[in-house]
Amino acid sequence: MDSTWLVLLSLALGLVIGAGLVWLLYAAASKGHRATEIASPTVPDGVDQILEALPTAGIVVDPSNNVVRASAGAYNLGLVWNAALSQPRLVELVDLVRRTGDPVDEDMELARSALGDATTVQLSVRVVRLGSRYILLLADDRTEAVRLEQVRRDFVANISHELKTPIGAISVLAEALESAADDEGQVRHFAHRLTGEAARLTRLTQDIIDLSRLQSAEIVPHAERVSIDHVVASAVDQNRVLAELRHIDLATGRHSHAVVFGDESLLITAVHNLISNAVKYSPDRARVGVGTRLHDGVVEISITDQGPGIPPEDLDRVFERFYRVDQARSRATGGTGLGLAIVKHAVQNHGGEVRVWSKPGRGSTFTIRLPEAEHLVPTQLEQGERTI
Ligand code: ADP
Repeated sequence: MDSTWLVLLSLALGLVIGAGLVWLLYAAASKGHRATEIASPTVPDGVDQILEALPTAGIVVDPSNNVVRASAGAYNLGLVWNAALSQPRLVELVDLVRRTGDPVDEDMELARSALGDATTVQLSVRVVRLGSRYILLLADDRTEAVRLEQVRRDFVANISHELKTPIGAISVLAEALESAADDEGQVRHFAHRLTGEAARLTRLTQDIIDLSRLQSAEIVPHAERVSIDHVVASAVDQNRVLAELRHIDLATGRHSHAVVFGDESLLITAVHNLISNAVKYSPDRARVGVGTRLHDGVVEISITDQGPGIPPEDLDRVFERFYRVDQARSRATGGTGLGLAIVKHAVQNHGGEVRVWSKPGRGSTFTIRLPEAEHLVPTQLEQGERTI
């Protein structure tokens, strides 16, 4: 009898525990169901389509600040995290609009910290009411536009700074010339220096014009078949006198017979700038080599010198406008600081690239790489001719 009671008691206990477990499971499930409902309640008609169509990032939040809709752009910018707004400033703006009912516009810089990303984004944000319950947040990514504007401002500031030096020197020299009018030797000396500064000003203005032309055009405006051997020979000739003055051996390799599609004078300028740098930065009696080779449909023009080389930390930056590793040396050699920027843009406009290898104390090799025209299939050529 005792054992029967024990069995019945265990059964009853089992039932109670079982029922309890079932209830717990049901409660958990229905709670989860409610959470999904909160995450995707019905928002006014058409909002989904509008968010999809908008070029800006769009987010809809409910009265508890849960994100109920968000476009892919909003996730990409790291504005939404765990169905909530990831940036406290955005939450503040949403609360403000909810309180006042008035739309708010604000430009802001935000860290993409929610994604563990160290970069920042520049946003133009607009927050408005959506119906009576929701708030709509639109964010326009202006990072690239702000960067370009900064680059433009820097360029203008740099140009003004670079122009000031020769212009200042010219006015000082003109005054000195006037006061030395009776001394023939002094007059010659100042006149010579005046000519030098005027030449620097001419070079600088020409480089600025060349660079802004190159930057405004994505492709070469007057493209034709160009012989690389002719480009190299012309660029070498232009540097011959300077090299001889410094007893530098300017050596060229064999002819490549390569032909590219582009603007001959631009390509000569690019190769000229590299040879002129190699000569400028080399010690007297050094050797500068200019070689061409064909490799997998790519023409490579390499200029090698035995100059001071470029430290690794400056290698990426030498192609930036007005960037100089050694300010004094660049000025002493009459450099404008724009030579390599012109090379980079001229080559890029031809669908090519420029590479640099350098080791301090050993020298540098700059290589221009261009697609060979002969290897272009006819249809590509025709398209190229039409677009250019
Ligand atoms: P710059 O007119 O000053 O020569 P560039 O744009 O041609 O301007 O070159 C930028 C900088 O890169 C130079 O100031 C110089 O410091 C460095 N550089 C360029 N070419 C060489 C080279 N062949 N050897 C060493 N340094 C070089």
